[in-house]
Amino acid sequence: MDNFALTLALGTIAALANVFGGFIVTARSHWNQEFLKYFIAFGSGFLLAAVFLKMIPISYEQSKLAPLFILIGYFVIHFFEHTAVPHFHFGEETHPEFLIPRAVGVSALVGLTTHTFFDGVSIASGFIINPTLGFLIFLAIMLHKIPEGFTIASLFLASGRSRKKALTSSFIIGAATLAGVVLMQFFHSLVSHGLALSAGVSIYVAASDLMPEVNKEKGIKLSVMVFIGVGLFYVTEFLLQKLGL
Ligand SMILES: [Zn+2]
Ligand SMILES: [Zn+2]
Repeated sequence: MDNFALTLALGTIAALANVFGGFIVTARSHWNQEFLKYFIAFGSGFLLAAVFLKMIPISYEQSKLAPLFILIGYFVIHFFEHTAVPHFHFGEETHPEFLIPRAVGVSALVGLTTHTFFDGVSIASGFIINPTLGFLIFLAIMLHKIPEGFTIASLFLASGRSRKKALTSSFIIGAATLAGVVLMQFFHSLVSHGLALSAGVSIYVAASDLMPEVNKEKGIKLSVMVFIGVGLFYVTEFLLQKLGL
């Protein structure tokens, strides 16, 4: 399988995980919600390790402008997920004390679509540089893909939309992930900037979207899982090297 086919296949898996997250909400399956919280906790630890140990140093090796693009990536997501959106947070939408205005669904979808587009750019940029980096980034992103689909679909339901529309919203963020993967193929020469932007986006996602959800939980169980996520990153990197990838 060539690099592009592999990237496309993994991008599709990531996109399907978004749809699966939406499906959990819309099918009202009695899926264990605790399980999703673990994904969020593992995901933030793993993703932070990937960003600080791989994405930032490698993008800086490729371009001395990387720090600027990292900062831009961070603030692009801050703007689209939070400044332009009145109400957005990761996880299930459960605020019985107030109704979520309909407009929130659309603005949150725009925000999350921007974010998932860069999930795709991250995976593709990783593979363009080398397969080990690609796989590490893919796994780092994968861990929060189901919660992402879950988040947008539950926000759609909470803002008074049908289940069909809620499921469609998770399709849209999945499609944006694939769009990011495909678009990067046409801009191989911009990979250093793509990786740096993605690193900034990923810092936001891990530290400003996922970690606050971990910290909302009472007790230490979930915050310990963040460290296990970091540990998993090391184990995965070790195994990938053993496999000669
Ligand atoms: Zn809420
Ligand atoms: Zn994401």
